[in-house]
Amino acid sequence: MKKKVVVIGSGVGGLCTALYLLHAGMEVHVYEKNDKVGGVIAPSYLSGNTFEQSATMMIEPEQYRRFFKGIGKDMNDYLEVSEKEVLYTIIEPNKALWKLERRIESDAFEKQIEYRNLVTNYQKKYSFLNKQLLTKPVDDICTVLALMRKKETWSMLSKNTCKKVISDVVSDESLQKATLFQTLYMGLPAQLLPAIFTSVPALSHAQGIPHIKGGMSAFLDALMAIFREFGGILHLHAPVERILAHSNRVCGVVVGNKPVFSDIVISNADYCYTMDKLLPYEYGKRRNYTHSVSVYILRLVLKKKAPCVLTEHNMYLGENFEEEMNRLAEGKFPQTPPIYIYYPDSGKTEQESQVSTCIQMVVRVPNLQNAKFSWTTEKKERMQEICYLALAEIGFTKDDVINAEEMIPEEFLNKYNRSNGASFGIAHTLMQSGVFRPQSKHPDVKDMYFVGSNIHPGNGVSMVMKGAAITAKEIVKACLEQEKI
Ligand SMILES: Cc1cc2nc3c(=O)[nH]c(=O)nc-3n(C[C@H](O)[C@H](O)[C@H](O)COP(=O)(O)OP(=O)(O)OC[C@H]3O[C@@H](n4cnc5c(N)ncnc54)[C@H](O)[C@@H]3O)c2cc1C
Repeated sequence: MKKKVVVIGSGVGGLCTALYLLHAGMEVHVYEKNDKVGGVIAPSYLSGNTFEQSATMMIEPEQYRRFFKGIGKDMNDYLEVSEKEVLYTIIEPNKALWKLERRIESDAFEKQIEYRNLVTNYQKKYSFLNKQLLTKPVDDICTVLALMRKKETWSMLSKNTCKKVISDVVSDESLQKATLFQTLYMGLPAQLLPAIFTSVPALSHAQGIPHIKGGMSAFLDALMAIFREFGGILHLHAPVERILAHSNRVCGVVVGNKPVFSDIVISNADYCYTMDKLLPYEYGKRRNYTHSVSVYILRLVLKKKAPCVLTEHNMYLGENFEEEMNRLAEGKFPQTPPIYIYYPDSGKTEQESQVSTCIQMVVRVPNLQNAKFSWTTEKKERMQEICYLALAEIGFTKDDVINAEEMIPEEFLNKYNRSNGASFGIAHTLMQSGVFRPQSKHPDVKDMYFVGSNIHPGNGVSMVMKGAAITAKEIVKACLEQEKI
């Protein structure tokens, strides 16, 4: 099957689809606008330390294994992955730290019967969804009808939100906030997120959040090693300027003012950006989408190791969780927001630990369209102060900081072409999920495909990998059908 494929963008979606198609024997060229691969998961460097740019958590590890198997590889040959019993360390102002454990049978949940039931219930719902919806294209009427005939589907289409389900069921206030915090990974505050996404925290209990030695960068290195082995061709610093299409058929792209002809084009770039800026006007029509929130990230190199026992993944819950979620939904600047704190040195022994240590702090903030403020110097300084106040809870002071670097929503727009600087893409509202989300095939343009967090099934490394499998299967199926004619 010697088709020439052009992939626009080298994010997780672009690279994984490229690997599936190389494995199927196609000629694949990946064009990336930036000087390194990986999109939002590309590492960044500060004072000799490597930082994960965005994703740090291996959520749904089984999907990673499935992906490697799908391209004829064994994940164990590429990644050193170890199980962790503690999922998160929880930090609350003026309270003792506590650990959120993976095993819901453990003593920590002994009195939390409701929480255990909630987790088990949503683990089951996720298994159903994974089989019936998340691993299939949902653009043909037969798949949709088959799904609608199942009673489980209807039970999931409730108008309830994660906020309602979790706060109705989980009575312990701290556990409730820690559960709500995890639903933020889908890019919306819990009061706007459909109840079914309660499966995000449930999934962490079911499959754990294992540690990858070397972090997400090691995963990216593995993808690139296989990409080279399979003969993929990578073009860095090569922004695609336009997609060439006529008579409802794609025929290539324009890069550096020159046409590059191909049989198939896959856009891993942001969906709305692709439709608005890359495709010819007549093929770029789309509905209006609501976008997810964005993030502010502060990366710090510090003089000493954390004075208290942090784990790799830590949550600072802030002073007033509920009010902060409302502020986020209303586009207001945060006051004492919840913060995800990544501490990659947590597992290092004394021998391994260096003189300095790194910490990355991630705060959910309104996207550029919703924000009722601009990222002025004053706002950036205020955000740093907010992060330092949280750091004080774990025994660091500003004097411990050797070097700092921040990332604001504009960077998601300018560097990665993410519409509205929305870090998680098209928001996962009910009317923008599943059958209502953009699908892998362009409805009108033959041989034009999409992949990435804006496309069904959606956001998160494991979801994007599922999307890559869907896109690749659709392409292979179409090629086989063409060969028959
Ligand atoms: C702060 C943050 C934390 C996260 N944490 C986690 C986590 O812990 N675990 C998890 O599973 N997921 C996490 N996620 C989600 C996960 O990282 C994303 O869903 C996933 O990486 C998105 O990949 P993608 O392929 O869709 O897009 P992208 O990474 O955006 O890739 C798109 C690529 O296209 C390129 N591009 C754009 N326009 C052009 C053009 N014209 N020409 C050429 N190239 C172009 C861009 O430069 C980019 O490289 C996190 C996301 C963020 C933002």
